[in-house]
Amino acid sequence: MLILRLNKSGLPQTWITVEEAAKCYVQEKVLFELGETKKVLRGGYNNLGVQSQLELSSIIACDGKITQESGKISLCNQYLFRRDNYTCLYCAGVFQASKLTRDHIIPRSRGGKNTWTNSATSCKRCNHAKGAKTPEEANMKLIAVPFVPNMYERFYLMNRRILADQTAFLSSHFSKRQTWLV
Ligand SMILES: [Zn+2]
Repeated sequence: MLILRLNKSGLPQTWITVEEAAKCYVQEKVLFELGETKKVLRGGYNNLGVQSQLELSSIIACDGKITQESGKISLCNQYLFRRDNYTCLYCAGVFQASKLTRDHIIPRSRGGKNTWTNSATSCKRCNHAKGAKTPEEANMKLIAVPFVPNMYERFYLMNRRILADQTAFLSSHFSKRQTWLV
């Protein structure tokens, strides 16, 4: 489990471990909590026999700056496939990651760039069929518009074990979901 750390304005700052979050609580740095999921850590017993416990929220806010490193991810297949919900953007089939490839919509050999908007998740069969053609030339229509993930979407993409309340928080700020064209 990772805990989403926000700054005091509620902007996502970083994913932190339970141990790092516990440190924020102990040092009284937590300004507010937004997560519904609680992680309870149990500590030692006091001389009355009561065990200490620390309840951590799945989303916490602390003081701190948003830097250029916050939410920085590079375009890689892992994030691309997750952006496209493991769906081939040509045949609409859903596949395991091992069966998927990155298709450059305008092929690299034709000057297409390796960017989020020129990349589509594609099954191996569709990628092979498309080859070095554009979708028009191959007569293969994209079923969704490839997009650049915004900050909230990037935080979503980078945590594969994300909790439901963390997803709900981030997804309320998603710029636009994919526009499905068919
Ligand atoms: Zn396909």
